Amino acid sequence: MPFVITDPCIGTKDTACVDVCPVDCIHPRKDAPEFEAATMLYIHPEECIDCGACVPACPVTAIYDSVDSVPSSQKDLIEANQVYRNGDAAAMAAAEAIVQAHIGARADPHAA
Ligand code: SF4
Ligand code: SF4
Repeated sequence: MPFVITDPCIGTKDTACVDVCPVDCIHPRKDAPEFEAATMLYIHPEECIDCGACVPACPVTAIYDSVDSVPSSQKDLIEANQVYRNGDAAAMAAAEAIVQAHIGARADPHAA
């Protein structure tokens, strides 16, 4: 069960988790051309080895240790982590669309 990055990363994106990940599965890296356009970072679900190193490194508690532990208000972002593939324009756009929808729902006081 892979680790998952959620909402608090939006606007923080400090890459502290990237620096501690032993398998470099958190994307995009700060030195990647895709970094600026990414609203948040994503954990590749098949590359993550569940080591847990990223959780204490995150200053805003954005990382959960499984899809099951992600709060209901953040469940939509699980798919964003799952679909993002650095360098794949369609996959990056799909993840970004999920994140933008999440931000829109968060800002809508009538949203569930
Ligand atoms: S749990 Fe370990 S392998 Fe998975 S994203 Fe975090 S630091 Fe990387
Ligand atoms: S450490 Fe937390 S806030 Fe920083 S990039 Fe990673 S998930 Fe985002």
